[in-house]
Formats: sequence, C-alpha cells, structure tokens
Amino acid sequence: MAAAPRGGKRCQRLEPSLARSVLSEAEAVLFDCDGVLWRGEAAVPGAAEALRLLEAGPGKPRLLCYVTNNSSRTREAYTEKLRRLGFPPAQPRQVFGSAYCAARYLRRALPAKGSEGPAASVYVLGGPALSAELEAAGVSHLGCGPSPAPDSALFGARAPLDPAVRAVLVGYDEHFSYGKLCLALRYLLRGGEEGCLLVGTNRDHRLPLEGGSAVPGTGCLVKAVETAAEREAFIVGKPSRYIFECVANEFNINPARTVMVGDRLDTDILMGNNCGLTTLLTLTGVTTLEEVQGHLESNCPERRNLVPDYYVDSIADLLPALQD
Ligand SMILES: [Mg+2]
Repeated sequence: MAAAPRGGKRCQRLEPSLARSVLSEAEAVLFDCDGVLWRGEAAVPGAAEALRLLEAGPGKPRLLCYVTNNSSRTREAYTEKLRRLGFPPAQPRQVFGSAYCAARYLRRALPAKGSEGPAASVYVLGGPALSAELEAAGVSHLGCGPSPAPDSALFGARAPLDPAVRAVLVGYDEHFSYGKLCLALRYLLRGGEEGCLLVGTNRDHRLPLEGGSAVPGTGCLVKAVETAAEREAFIVGKPSRYIFECVANEFNINPARTVMVGDRLDTDILMGNNCGLTTLLTLTGVTTLEEVQGHLESNCPERRNLVPDYYVDSIADLLPALQD
C-alpha cells in the first residue's frame, strides 16, 4: 500500500465541531468561485453569509482571496460579481484570476524595455479580459479579437511576423482559429525555446453546463498550440503552484494556516495539496463523493494526492460553526 501524502488525507466530513477547530487555525481562506460561491449567475444559498462570518473571524479578521482559472474576466469584474451576488466587498488585489496571473508572470519573464529596440511583446490567443490585464501590467501584446479571414494578407499562415514578439500566451479565446494557430506556431518556431515563451492560462479541458452538457475549456486550445509546437506550455492556473505563489507574495500568508476551498479535485484540491494548504472540497460543483472514494482507495500516489482533507455538501454547512 503506497503511503498517503502528508500523513494521509481522508476527505473527512467537516462537521461543525471539527469546522470550529479547523477554521480557528486559519488566517487565510482561498476560494475557487464557480461551483463553490456561485453557479453561473446564482449564488450558492448561504455562501455569502458564510463568507461574511468567515471574514470577520474570531477576534481578528481573516483574509479571503478568490483564486480562479477563468481567464475571461478581470479582477475588477470578479469584485463586481461578488458585490452583485451579495458577497462581502473585496478589493481587486484579493482576486487571483489566471488572466491577471499570466500578465504578472509575463511582466517578470520578458526582458524589460532596453535601449535596443521596442519592449518585448506577446502574441495572445485570448479575449478582452486577458488583453486588459496585460495592459494593466504594462505588457505590450497583439492578437486579441477576431482572426483575419483566410483570403486576407494578414491570415496567420502568411502574415508578417512582429519582430518584438517574445512569448505566445494562450487563454480562453472565442475567436480561436486555424489562422491564429498558424501564427502562434510561426512565432514559437522563429524564437525557439529560448527566444519565445509558451504560456497557458489553464488546462481545464471541459466546462460543465447545467443538465449534463458542456463546452470545451481553454485546455483544448493550449493543447492545440502545444501539439503544433511540440513543446509544453508553462501553466499559471491551478493546479500550478504559480497561482498560489502570486497570493503568497501579495499577502505573505503562511501555507500551514491557509485553507483552499474548491469543487474540483484536479485543479483546486491538487493545487492546495501540492502547496501544503488545508483542502476543503464542496459538493456544489463538479465533483461527487464517489469520485473521491475511488482516489482514496487507489494505491496510486498521484490519485491519492487528489484527496482533500475535508468536505462539505456546501460552504453554507460552515454556518453553524461560525455562528456561535
Ligand atoms: Mg470551480
């Protein structure tokens, strides 16, 4: 029997008495958003009240942060959604979306503007939010928006290459096309591993919809570029440690006193487990207890690392522990 990581996580139900002791130790609580705080435009019942009480803390306030792989919204858009759905007011700096974190990564990874030539630029497969976060971080970029038609001189297979491009960033892109894929590959081949970075916001390959349907996630687009380029992207979103490092650098939090709350095992829970956080699964999103049971009974260390410390049916289940 393989040893379970970190002394063996058991996915224990977080009953009120246990919740009281777990939460009294926590200085920071990180939340995934969709499937945890809300589903689409509807808040999970009781979630806003639970967050208000959590933030107030016993004696001193706790830090709440929002950590999401969704690259189609800016930090400001998340604070606005939290407000709209009745959650406690949050500052943009409490929100860590994969669009913001990708911009932050590229700002540091790309050579600064020097005396020789223009600042390094990024070819982006992504939407307006990714563009806005790059703009806010001062990273010059091109490529967002609709792709030129196949009969245009700017079609990706033959468009002139911008000499300043030193990275390709792949995020959620409703205008993803063969032409964009061509251009991404041409930049990556021109720069090689050293001269052109390949960065992806996240690997989520499917976004579930109500009623059992789904749409393809950004992971499919990242995979397309990786396949064409024959190399692997650096991923900023969960389960990458990078997104947690962004939080830890911003707020200097102690992983041992931090709880990660999520509805997805291979992103939220895996990231939390890999970063030494206490992990709490909610069943209001994509995961069932049966799936966790399968991992729990497995001898495979990778599968065991998907098991959270605790679970609740909904974060509203924390209310009794917080109300006393
Ligand atoms: Mg989720």
